[in-house]
Amino acid sequence: MKIGIIGGGASGIFAAIEARKKYSDVTIFDKNDFLGRKLSSTGAGRCNLTNVNVSPGIYQSINKFSFQDLIKNYDYIFLNEYFRQLGIHTYHTDDGWVYPLSNSARNISTLLEDHLTTVNVKINKNTSVSSFIKIKNRFQLKTDSGKSYEFDKLILASGGKAYPQLRASDAILQSLLNFGHKLIPAFPALAPIKTSKHETKSLNGVRLDATIRILDNKSVIGSEFGNIIFTEWGLNGPGVMNLSHLVHEKNNLKIVLDFSSVLPPEFLSIVIANKDKFLYLSTALLSIFNKKIIEQLLLNLNFGLYSPFRINDFINLTNKMMFTENILGTRDFEFAQISTGAIESSQINPETLESKLCTGLYFAGEVLDMIGPCGGFNLHWAFISGIIAGQLKN
Ligand SMILES: Cc1cc2nc3c(=O)[nH]c(=O)nc-3n(C[C@H](O)[C@H](O)[C@H](O)COP(=O)(O)OP(=O)(O)OC[C@H]3O[C@@H](n4cnc5c(N)ncnc54)[C@H](O)[C@@H]3O)c2cc1C
Repeated sequence: MKIGIIGGGASGIFAAIEARKKYSDVTIFDKNDFLGRKLSSTGAGRCNLTNVNVSPGIYQSINKFSFQDLIKNYDYIFLNEYFRQLGIHTYHTDDGWVYPLSNSARNISTLLEDHLTTVNVKINKNTSVSSFIKIKNRFQLKTDSGKSYEFDKLILASGGKAYPQLRASDAILQSLLNFGHKLIPAFPALAPIKTSKHETKSLNGVRLDATIRILDNKSVIGSEFGNIIFTEWGLNGPGVMNLSHLVHEKNNLKIVLDFSSVLPPEFLSIVIANKDKFLYLSTALLSIFNKKIIEQLLLNLNFGLYSPFRINDFINLTNKMMFTENILGTRDFEFAQISTGAIESSQINPETLESKLCTGLYFAGEVLDMIGPCGGFNLHWAFISGIIAGQLKN
């Protein structure tokens, strides 16, 4: 039995590790000159491998969400033990983000490629698969250099379109159309959001946490408490990026940044009780916000940094601690961590990740319709879906 895997990223590597446990002839293809090229750039070079808080509710999808049972069964405890067996030792931050002890993403891709070499997986680097077809129960692959290969089972783990600078591309998905598979269009996800700069012009470079809401007319279509970075073209930071997949193909969306959720409990009652101690309206906020935020909040209500403290003005201010901007779209794939383009889940067995339309064809990683937030959730999905596809169950 010959097993072929297209894509040597996070999911393809784990598919190869798992497939090799059962089958002696496993071959992996990747365009890049080392396996795990994107993996080696993750987590700002530190490799945010997974998250202690992985659960099905954290993930989203463009069409129907189909893989909750896999996430329930292949959780953080499962994956961390799997890592340990491979010699990957981890730690996690207070908020659950998991990293290797070395804090080196490049070390992890090296360790994994070395592992595949020791277990005799055949590794074809610098090899781009241009197409595949199935003839008489065997998959035939063609590479860009004109070479052909044949396999009994095939795992497609070719990733998405995010970061084309690392040669990411979803061109190979076109081969699936011959099998009757439907494709969901690709858009940048976990991407910065471009906005008008009506209310936040002076805030470039400021970074802080707030509640972020995306509004379509007056309905909230997404909400998140998280980190925001103000930039000259709009908004960056994990909190904003986690909502970016919601903004495509829609006009006139607005983004609201609500700072009232940052105020400590009983903030207003403490200020009221101490109202004689504050010289300016801004004074009571100085310990909480960056000065630029305070200036802009005051400006939006026609106050200045040195407007005298009056309790009614202050109550009015705390009721309007938010900025609203028009959404102009996301930044492009070059700035996105994942993409939405994927294979329609209803045509895939949700337990085995085998195609329902073509026996022996399996999928793993970002080619599936799954969107995790920042924090290790996307690599978690890539690793576990690789393991599941690599089991090659019918
Ligand atoms: C800058 C950045 C930072 C990130 N940081 C994190 C993080 O810290 N934590 C987290 O959870 N997620 C992170 N992500 C997301 C994470 O990297 C992806 O979710 C994950 O890599 C997806 O794994 P994959 O195996 O599906 O795809 P990939 O890792 O993209 O692997 C697919 C591989 O297939 C190859 N390929 C594609 N087409 C072909 C073809 N036709 N022939 C041969 N080879 C082909 C590609 O070269 C690629 O190596 C980050 C993403 C980026 C861009």
